[in-house]
Amino acid sequence: MKEESKRPIGLERVKKWLYAKGLEERGSGCVLCGSCYGHGPVNPMEDHPGFKTKCPPYEFYRFQRFTPKSRWLMSQRVYHGLDPITPELKEVIYTCTTCLMCQEICGVRNDGYGPWDITVAMREEITEKEGPLEAHRPLLEGLRLYNNPWSQPKNERGEWAKGLGLRKLGEKESSTLLFAGCSADGTSGRAGAVALAKLMKQVGENFVILGEEEKCCGLYANDLGFPREYHRLEEENLKTVKEAGIKKIVIACGSCRRIWKNYPKEKMQGIEVLHGVEYIERILQERQLKFSKTIKRKITYHDPCHLGRGCGVYESPRNILRSIPGVELVEMPRNRRWAWCCGGGGGVPEAFPELAQWNAEDRLREAEQTGAELLITTSALCLRNFACSQQAHLQTQDLLEFIHQAV
Ligand code: SF4
Ligand code: SF4
Repeated sequence: MKEESKRPIGLERVKKWLYAKGLEERGSGCVLCGSCYGHGPVNPMEDHPGFKTKCPPYEFYRFQRFTPKSRWLMSQRVYHGLDPITPELKEVIYTCTTCLMCQEICGVRNDGYGPWDITVAMREEITEKEGPLEAHRPLLEGLRLYNNPWSQPKNERGEWAKGLGLRKLGEKESSTLLFAGCSADGTSGRAGAVALAKLMKQVGENFVILGEEEKCCGLYANDLGFPREYHRLEEENLKTVKEAGIKKIVIACGSCRRIWKNYPKEKMQGIEVLHGVEYIERILQERQLKFSKTIKRKITYHDPCHLGRGCGVYESPRNILRSIPGVELVEMPRNRRWAWCCGGGGGVPEAFPELAQWNAEDRLREAEQTGAELLITTSALCLRNFACSQQAHLQTQDLLEFIHQAV
């Protein structure tokens, strides 16, 4: 029996958090405190009470069933056979943008389980019993047939690197891998991946890429509830890097960084995972890179949910921006831990485009109100969703590309 088939999936995976009867070991489940969506302070004992806006779908629909708490309670009732899976339940479960805010806030989470984990487990349950949402079916088929959610054939993967003179795995000895991410072969992620490669070359880093052999990290498979595809991609990616003796992975996309960080620790021993901005901050500190240009621009930085709350990377992008001569960094009120989601994750743009667009425009409005001329971020998914906005006029750019322009 293959190892992947032994892993529990769906609600069975999180049953100890669902008040499962007859279990020797039970975790505490949702206690209905309301912190994950309520407009009061998250924790009155904290110095910083947090922001009143927490869960994007709740703020958009303004109906209680769209809260993280309700997703947990609905999952609990399905697990105990009290409710069937209905179209209304699916709507609630799939409007989660995977912003991880409830996960950040929820006081009962333990062992890595929180309201968002329960939502993902419920998505797994739905996929196992009824298949994916129609809007998500192309993403699943893309992963199955082409190892990427956008159904790009293998001969189109790695196109982002054309003309850069990069070497692929197996073409030279190297223990450092640049992982570009599926979006690098689309419009939203290409500039960041290209800039990262150019910067790594510029400082003499000995690294390789995967080119047409690169497979999705598993982001969509995990977050949309396709655990079998996720486990397959995780195992194949780990096999690739282990067999090649890779010790350091530098990643161009914030969401891929979160997934690589979440691969099992015992299997990732001896492998360091960094987002490009963490890598750049390090080489700036080591004085291998310095900024030679002055760029007089007022900039605001959008923390991608997956790099921020998902990986705890808040300061590297800001430290880099502050060290570029001429840059004035202005913060949005909701920043770092409290950063507001762009709406681009969780398969929401595919299934509920009006929610994704509202989320992007709400965030862009906040960015414009800072007086910034440019919104910088570090995730291809955020850039893709901001590009869908039909109202905002603020220019957006990937931080890696901006850094390369300043060197
Ligand atoms: S991850 Fe974000 S969108 Fe999803 S339930 Fe939690 S707060 Fe809401
Ligand atoms: S999910 Fe967590 S934060 Fe939200 S109501 Fe339940 S216990 Fe409170």
